[in-house]
Amino acid sequence: SPIILWFRRDLRLSDHPALAAAVRSRRPIVPVFILDDQVQSLGAAPKWRLGLGLKAFAQSLEQTGSRLILRQGDALDVLCDLIEETGAGAVFWSRAYDPDAINRDKRIKAILAGQGTEVRSFAGHLLFEPWTIATKAGQPFRVFTPMWRSVHGRDVPSPELAPARLTAPQTWPATDQLVDWRLDQNMRRGACVVQPFVRPGEAAALDQLDGFLERIDKYREQRDRLDDVGTSDLSEYLALGEIGPRAIWHRVQNAGWTGASGSETYLRQLVWREFAYHLMYHWPDLLTNNWKSEWDAFPWNTDPDVPEVWAWRRARTGVPVVDAGLRQMYVTGRMHNRARMIVASYLTKHLMTHWKIGADWFADCLTDWDPAANAMGWQWVAGSGPDAAPYFRIFNPMTQRERFDPNSEYLHRWVAEGCTDPSATALAYFDAAPRSWGLSREDLYPDPVVNLREGRARALHHYKTRKDQ
Ligand code: FAD
Repeated sequence: SPIILWFRRDLRLSDHPALAAAVRSRRPIVPVFILDDQVQSLGAAPKWRLGLGLKAFAQSLEQTGSRLILRQGDALDVLCDLIEETGAGAVFWSRAYDPDAINRDKRIKAILAGQGTEVRSFAGHLLFEPWTIATKAGQPFRVFTPMWRSVHGRDVPSPELAPARLTAPQTWPATDQLVDWRLDQNMRRGACVVQPFVRPGEAAALDQLDGFLERIDKYREQRDRLDDVGTSDLSEYLALGEIGPRAIWHRVQNAGWTGASGSETYLRQLVWREFAYHLMYHWPDLLTNNWKSEWDAFPWNTDPDVPEVWAWRRARTGVPVVDAGLRQMYVTGRMHNRARMIVASYLTKHLMTHWKIGADWFADCLTDWDPAANAMGWQWVAGSGPDAAPYFRIFNPMTQRERFDPNSEYLHRWVAEGCTDPSATALAYFDAAPRSWGLSREDLYPDPVVNLREGRARALHHYKTRKDQ
């Protein structure tokens, strides 16, 4: 009888343990993607990007003689329908680790297994399953560096090759049409502005990795530079599972660069992603609450609609490097890691605004949005998370810009106001911004919404007071 392969954040054919197990069984495979509440609740940009990913993935399945069946509704109902329609005897999937997905999957597993269906979940999204990593005392890691040391020399299973053919079922069940799902409906800027920056799909991801490996030796020196393409830009592929972390790990090691500083630093960053998942798995609250509860009493602004927060969202804070980062995100769906730290520090410290307000905006705008990495990144910068930056580390946007964008190239790429010869990308921001924001290319650059020195002093005062309590 057929196996239903429920795809989620694993839109690839290689490095896919669940798919490989299904292929080994020689049974027909029915690949399915379900538009359930969890997918419906994605922010505008990640949902739009998912649509592009699904389209590319359906095409690559077709090249193996298979199809991607699209269904909408409660995941359990959809799977029950498909079992009935296809006579499937098994459902396989790759594990997800956020609390909603874990609860959903556990429930589905219990009910389907109770009805006599074989249900198997597989690794694939991570290098190491979160419960396989522990301190010497058997506890989850709370700090990154010891976790990195503990996984550093570990074996990572070799990634599976992509199967050439998938056995089709005798008859295919009905499928929705992707266009009817309108995954792009909240992303009106997508078609005109963001699209040129996106190359969806597994083949593009592998190609991106190849390109990056040619310059990985410069990664350590250049990864923090805002004005250079120093990083791999693989995060959105990882977020949708268009590439798997094991494939990256092996390619980086096999390319013979092990020990070279670039690859070492790169694998370390990949393990930051694991750390985020490790934390989310062991402390599911990471997504919604201060990881360190003593921060609950901190006097953050929690009103998302005050003018300075709107100025931040609209990338009109009057601090050029902050606005540049936020504009890059709005136009391309991505933001450099250094810029993410700068804009997050500015919001949580200079504007004393709760990290959740920033995290929500990122969840709406980032094509690489990832629940664990986003929550950890915000909490880390805000100080409420693990491995927090010391309370007195308040990024000074001016010195950050001088260090990481010394020739103002990044600024020129994203800030048009005041330039005699603005770049096309900087102007694109004005086309992308919703009309309701009332922006115009003729606008003057705004004055700072907060004086940097005063904002810093206020934040320092409150942070220090909290620390002394
Ligand atoms: P590279 O430097 O090439 O790194 C390789 C891979 O390692 C990345 O693709 C990513 O998967 C992982 N990685 C690198 N740095 C981190 C990190 N600090 N935390 C977790 N994983 C990391 N990353 C996301 O993928 N999705 C998010 O929603 C997200 N939100 C963030 C929010 C804030 C406030 C901050 C400070 C960071 C956030 N990050 C997030 C982490 C990081 O900024 C991005 O992973 C990185 O910029 C992606 O670019 P890259 O693929 O070129 O990274």
